[in-house]
Amino acid sequence: MSDNQTLKLYHYGSAVLKKQAEAVTEFNGELRDFVNRMIDTLYEENGVGLAAPQVGVSRRIVVIDLSFGEEVERILPMINPEILSAEGECSLEEGCLSIPGIYEDVVRPERVRVRYRDPEGRTLEMEADGFLARVIQHESDHLDGILFVDRLGAVKRTFLAKALREIADSENGEE
Ligand code: ZN
Repeated sequence: MSDNQTLKLYHYGSAVLKKQAEAVTEFNGELRDFVNRMIDTLYEENGVGLAAPQVGVSRRIVVIDLSFGEEVERILPMINPEILSAEGECSLEEGCLSIPGIYEDVVRPERVRVRYRDPEGRTLEMEADGFLARVIQHESDHLDGILFVDRLGAVKRTFLAKALREIADSENGEE
């Protein structure tokens, strides 16, 4: 049981979102407490996925729940996720808790095979397609300092430049 301690969200413009995150090597109570706080934060923000850099921690941890907290048993914490293979291609709309108000279609592989560890340290593998595959790729990107807007074409990025600058300015306290 967690006691609902949510974490501060970092937004576009924060340096931590651009860093390569470090692999987790110790699977202990501290890690599990942090994962639980990430889950509380994900639910608080009504998101489907959250990566540790988004709460200011540069480690390879993500939590995913496509049910928005409706089916707590389906929460998927992934530690050190590694996409082993990817197939197909599809365009789906993405948003990001770190980039509020911006939603754009992004082209990515349609299916992925991913290896990861659970919070107890067990190594697991799964195949995913559709929306789950999309969220796994989006969250894995966060661990490499990549945001979904980085995957848009130059024209779309130019179109979004002003809105992104506004998010970055308010993140850096330049209202
Ligand atoms: Zn995101």
